[in-house]
Amino acid sequence: MKAKKLYAATHDLTNSRKHVAAMIILNAKTPVHYTTLLATEIIWTTAIPTGATDGVWVYINPEFYRGLATDGQRAFLLAHEVSHIILRHPQRSLAYQKRGFFRHGMRFVHRIYNSAADYVIDADLVAMGFEMIPECLYSDKYQRDDVVDAVYADIYKDQPEEPEHGEPEGEEGGFPSPESGNSQPNGDGEETEGEPNGAGTQSGEPTDNMSSGEGDLPAPAGHDYHLTPEYEGDADEQADAAAQDEHDISEAIDRGLDQMEAEGKDTSKVSDNVRDGGNRYRSDKQSNVAWNAELADRVSRVGRGERTSFSRIKVRQYATIGVISPETLGEFTRLTVISDISSSVRDEPFKAYLNELAAIQDAVNPIEGVTILWTNHQVERADEAYSSDELLNIEMPWKGGGTRMYAGLDWLDQNGVESDLIMVFTDGELYGNDWTRLGAQDDLLVVLDREPDLYTQRELVSHDIDYIVAEAA
Ligand SMILES: [Zn+2]
Repeated sequence: MKAKKLYAATHDLTNSRKHVAAMIILNAKTPVHYTTLLATEIIWTTAIPTGATDGVWVYINPEFYRGLATDGQRAFLLAHEVSHIILRHPQRSLAYQKRGFFRHGMRFVHRIYNSAADYVIDADLVAMGFEMIPECLYSDKYQRDDVVDAVYADIYKDQPEEPEHGEPEGEEGGFPSPESGNSQPNGDGEETEGEPNGAGTQSGEPTDNMSSGEGDLPAPAGHDYHLTPEYEGDADEQADAAAQDEHDISEAIDRGLDQMEAEGKDTSKVSDNVRDGGNRYRSDKQSNVAWNAELADRVSRVGRGERTSFSRIKVRQYATIGVISPETLGEFTRLTVISDISSSVRDEPFKAYLNELAAIQDAVNPIEGVTILWTNHQVERADEAYSSDELLNIEMPWKGGGTRMYAGLDWLDQNGVESDLIMVFTDGELYGNDWTRLGAQDDLLVVLDREPDLYTQRELVSHDIDYIVAEAA
């Protein structure tokens, strides 16, 4: 593992009877968590009052650990921290912090994300038969297979008005804040000053709402501290190191699944979230990630000169953890989609594309929104969306009619609408003069609903048109 160790070890409980007993319970209940823990290291330190992880290393206070009531509770703590690593919560949380918001119209509040992550993890651990530690976050409302982002949105909407500063942190869980040590870049500044914090991202001040503003660690939602990973080196070196850690974690998860099979255990009992943390069950998603990362990359190259919306580094991060972090917001004016509504266009890839577009809209937040021109041989309807919710709620018109995508370009000209990027979503069954017009347009990307046939491929190449193939999720 390549991430920086945020705290030095002050103790070593590796061979203590209590720890060995907890490891045996961990291995018996969930080999995946056990193999993942073996791939990293527990740093026994008094710098953390309870337990913590930065997504790569596990930090445990030896006093707190010994003081837990049973070996079962110690196993619970280990499994809890490793779950954060398996589910990449610290990495995702960091990406949200950097971009400063969760979704369009929804702030990112570190404390809520911590709670959401703990609810999902603890539901999973209870389902696996672990003995819960008192005060940990558990609710019947949330299930082990829930997506943390969805839990976040659910908790967020039930929040009373968030104060702008000084959330009443430090009271939940009843554990005191640590006196020293700080992995958050806007903390007391004594150790992170001038140093980028994180998985391949470098710029952007973290937002106020990620800490209490007094230099403390983010207060624990339940019993543990949620830190974020730090890497040494320049942006590229950091991104490479983070990718290497990501790879090692996936492999450790797969080893656990292999071990389960070798022991005749049923891997389908492992939660979907945990299985998705490895590579074995992720084949669909991997190909999916490739095209949507390409889409994000294409959007990132729209900026002329300095107007880049998000860097290539961020696109790589998007490919691994699925959160787009733009460099600058508000630089993007408008995205236009000319959507082919001839009857041969496939629905599923279009829906997948629309979902990606919604994520991109959240990330780049174009000032004038996203315009969709539903087009057959003419523009049948024009819709505008100023948020991802609006975009996803647009009703698709009836499909049919001929195919003439340049009717969309004409519509833009006639209505004086300028776009930073025009995407044409189509099956590629276009006439020659249509390809000629599309090829002559700057900042245009063709998104195909299938692999192009030979004819289509020739047209794309001869007119020098950028294209990607959307795949159904
Ligand atoms: Zn936690």
